[in-house]
Amino acid sequence: MLGTLLVVSGPSGSGKTTLCRRAAAEGLAVYSISCTTRAPRPGEQDGVDYHFLSPDEFSARVAAGEFLEHATVHGNSYGTLKADIVALLERGQNVVMDIDVQGAAGIRACTHPVIRRAYADLFIRVLPAELEARLRGRQTDAEEVIRLRLHNAAQENARRGEYLFTLTSGDREQDYTRFTALLTALSLRTGLDPAE
Ligand code: 5GP
Repeated sequence: MLGTLLVVSGPSGSGKTTLCRRAAAEGLAVYSISCTTRAPRPGEQDGVDYHFLSPDEFSARVAAGEFLEHATVHGNSYGTLKADIVALLERGQNVVMDIDVQGAAGIRACTHPVIRRAYADLFIRVLPAELEARLRGRQTDAEEVIRLRLHNAAQENARRGEYLFTLTSGDREQDYTRFTALLTALSLRTGLDPAE
């Protein structure tokens, strides 16, 4: 059986990274590690949180066609490596991917047969007042970055209709219960069986 590829989008502060990381820590899926040109935040590690690349390294990989998709988000480049994801899915591993709406659109449009079969997507929605409180509580970003992220969140929310599933974020545990229920249901899809 092929694994399920669950692409998860939502504004920064929606908790999507935490949901994906926790599912990975509990062995329900593998967390796809993206490449980025942004600087690491305190505590972030290369090869664990992201593959941190210089703009030149990133461009070289784009030119070599190594990305499943890539996009500019908040002024930095982000991308997902194709070979890694396909190999995991073919081994039957579920993969969770935390990427923005542009990235999800790129993967949705991908013609690779394994990606097409394995694909599903989820938008994590957070109501605006709650989102602002979370971003400020995180205390990792400057005021102007928070304002940019709130602005981007409104734009991302407008594209929620492109996703098959929506989770409105509230209580952390309840969010996680719903998230794992979705992963389980997706991995039962008939189309993941190579014999079909
Ligand atoms: P952050 O810098 O806060 O970790 O992430 C900023 C945004 O980039 C988030 O919306 C995140 O989902 C998105 N992102 C992370 N990895 C990728 C990727 O591989 N491709 C795309 N298109 N977006 C990504």
